Amino acid sequence: MRANDREALPISVRGVTKTYGPVHALKDVSLDVRSGEFLTLLGPSGSGKTTLLMVLAGFTRPDCGSLKFGDEEVIRTPPHLRDLGMTFQNYALFPHMTVAGNVGYPLKLRRVPRPEIAQRVEAALETVQLGGYGARRIDQLSGGQKQRVALARSIVFEPRILLMDEPLSALDKKLRDQMQIELRHLHDKLGMTTVYVTHDQREALTMSDRIAVVNQGRIMQLATPRDLYERPANRFVADFIGDSTFLPVTRSGQAVAFNGTPLVFSAPPPAAAELTLMIRPEHIVLSHDGPREGANNFSATASDIVYQGDSYLLNARLDDGSRIALRGGARGVNLMALPAVGDRVTLVLAPEDTILIDASEA
Ligand code: ADP
Ligand code: MG
Repeated sequence: MRANDREALPISVRGVTKTYGPVHALKDVSLDVRSGEFLTLLGPSGSGKTTLLMVLAGFTRPDCGSLKFGDEEVIRTPPHLRDLGMTFQNYALFPHMTVAGNVGYPLKLRRVPRPEIAQRVEAALETVQLGGYGARRIDQLSGGQKQRVALARSIVFEPRILLMDEPLSALDKKLRDQMQIELRHLHDKLGMTTVYVTHDQREALTMSDRIAVVNQGRIMQLATPRDLYERPANRFVADFIGDSTFLPVTRSGQAVAFNGTPLVFSAPPPAAAELTLMIRPEHIVLSHDGPREGANNFSATASDIVYQGDSYLLNARLDDGSRIALRGGARGVNLMALPAVGDRVTLVLAPEDTILIDASEA
């Protein structure tokens, strides 16, 4: 299948609200998806991801708000006239039709001549690595193959926008990991603007140009995977993405202290009333020669050490009772030099890894 020669379209969502009786599924959501971008909506179950995708697709009419594809307002445009492809978690394939019948269905609806349908179906199947599978029945396929058929069907008419709602969640982990990379390559090859939904933070970090973290019908933060991980806007985002230890800190002006000891940090803290110190397990370093100057030092007691093959995890208790986790690479580490349970340890956090975030949940 050739790369899409029509220009990809940016999406602009403004002030979209959707209620179901007392449930506020979407609360005044605004969002810009760039032309050709792979953007992921990431959030817990029930946060409003599917509702937002259904608004983009045209299956759900919001209570208010505007939606533009390029310069065109489409909020009143029916789904089949929106020029978008869509795949879902449960594939939504016609079980009694062949693979080719399923993939060609959108072309048939668009009254494309038969010979051209056959040609385009085969091209789409090759794109998803199912060339030659056209005559198979759907119930003869594995889960991964069914998902590929669904994908082929959603791209066969070369839409300028592709929407995907948890398309990999029915697959086992190994296949899911592989399909994440494949989907991303496919996106790069075809170049369509893509909005992807998942509740899996690792999947979002792996695939996306940018991620919109959704919670309770609102977008908490829209940023690149790296910025989300390293500079979460608030406690909810920090908690949802990656593992962290959160320590309470006190602020007076520009000075911030933990347990009365001033902290050194390189990035200015956000202008929030209350701050939390967020510590990623891979940022903490175990010092074998006491506190380090110019860094933040925490004295703690080792409470357990878990060897995990590719790394080790050390859990420790700070003197104020807070728990803290440290992850180190196991390779090249002398496991004998690791502390034993009950040992006193010094944990070091560099100023650039000392991330102060807004303590509020939203
Ligand atoms: P997500 O996809 O993030 O899991 P949804 O968008 O499906 O979340 O749902 C958001 C909220 O809206 C949930 O509280 C859900 O129960 C509610 N909701 C979604 N669709 C409907 C509907 N058709 N009728 C009533 N409530 C709905
Ligand atoms: Mg959903």
